[in-house]
Amino acid sequence: MQYISTRGGMPPMPYCETLLEGLAPDGGLAVPEVMPTVDGETLERWRALTYPQLATEVLGLFATDIPRADLARMTAAAYEPFPEEVVPLRSIGEGLTLVGLSEGPTLAFKDMAMQFLGQVVEYALERKGSVLNILGATSGDTGSAAEHALRGKERISVFMLSPKGRMSAFQRAQMFSLDDDNIHNIAVDGVFDDCQNLVKKLAGDLDFKRAQNLGAVNSINLARITAQVVYYFWAWLRATDAGGWTELSFTVPSGNFGNILSGFFAKQMGLPIRRLVLAANENNVLDEFFRTGVYRPRSAAQTLATSSPSMDISKASNLERFIFELVGRDAARLVAVWNDLDTKGSFDFTADLARFVDEFGIVSGTSTHDDRLETIRSVYEQTGEIIDPHTADGVKVAREFSESGVPMLVLETAKPQKFADTIREAIDVELDYSDELREMLDAPQRVTEMADDEQALRSFIEAHALR
Ligand SMILES: *Cc1c(COP(=O)(O)O)cnc(C)c1O
Repeated sequence: MQYISTRGGMPPMPYCETLLEGLAPDGGLAVPEVMPTVDGETLERWRALTYPQLATEVLGLFATDIPRADLARMTAAAYEPFPEEVVPLRSIGEGLTLVGLSEGPTLAFKDMAMQFLGQVVEYALERKGSVLNILGATSGDTGSAAEHALRGKERISVFMLSPKGRMSAFQRAQMFSLDDDNIHNIAVDGVFDDCQNLVKKLAGDLDFKRAQNLGAVNSINLARITAQVVYYFWAWLRATDAGGWTELSFTVPSGNFGNILSGFFAKQMGLPIRRLVLAANENNVLDEFFRTGVYRPRSAAQTLATSSPSMDISKASNLERFIFELVGRDAARLVAVWNDLDTKGSFDFTADLARFVDEFGIVSGTSTHDDRLETIRSVYEQTGEIIDPHTADGVKVAREFSESGVPMLVLETAKPQKFADTIREAIDVELDYSDELREMLDAPQRVTEMADDEQALRSFIEAHALR
């Protein structure tokens, strides 16, 4: 299996090389040259597998340049920190079932992909005989998932910028309690956008980037997208009975279109998915696109800080991979669409609106702060389950699209303990924390404070980067 760019300007590359790149050299995103497919017989055979075994099968279709035994070792190690089931399913009535993606070390779904990424990036670097210094900015979830997945690795170090004093106590503890030598937390005197601008400046300096072996593990990374495909297969296998060819639907709390894109891959691979329901919060650029056909990214200033913060996006980085399929994998047309976006600030697929549902099965909806609170409350009253604000956005929109006779699976993307303030506001309940979490919250913290100063960051990286 080889990977090509959505913009047509990259010679086909194998999996292990592709996942070390951010954007393709032509500015596009890597996609499989041909989407692998899975037939009914294979799917039935997969019912008996454990999660890591299933991950080996599914990822094996994408990473054909990795020997099976190596892949099996990596998936076993990646999902070892999880409970035995890895992704548990639980019903909350009304025909809705939660798919538990937040059982990993940082209590959010990003662990599902990052844990595998940590294994496979180290492996790819070893094969190449090189090292990677990851430079990123985080407002909370991504940074901690990356650090917990990459801590202690020999060929990778992490430089993670966060806005000083603007993360929750829980998020700070999750990142700053790590004492591994290869993890560098940097609290910048500024807001998240200042952190992101610093990253962009350094990553845009190609000489510096090359000299310091800088890279990223953001949501467009191919290893993340492919690792997320696995749990769509897993959830389908758990929610259906042997022998049937049952269609079911998934609702996905969405930000950068990463998670739901993996569901779209699974559907294209032949998994019987009826609808992929996109749930957005108030920052609903994607809901707007799937309802009207017009995509109009917003500026940072137009992006609201909401109570489901991990979905607060202004533009959806992974959407380009969907548009590539929408234009029939025609790279020239895709480039024209992105040129339109650059010149007019929007693009328009109004004429293709019917295809979104008929051909791709994608529908969408929006949830607001009040919806979130109301949904947390109603699920708690009906079932005693406490769901986090992002999952609540999913449940709210899932209810609008549930169809009788079609099971609706809602992806649970975080644990409520990460967002205790909103839970308190919704149901006035104090959450339980495990001994392990309490220990983390009380552990000594280690962080480097820095002014919003490009030169200071350059010097810090030069002094600490792996070579
Ligand atoms: C990142 C994140 C999302 C959004 O996922 P995308 O892949 O960006 O669409 C939703 N919920 C939580 C808790 C997250 O951390």
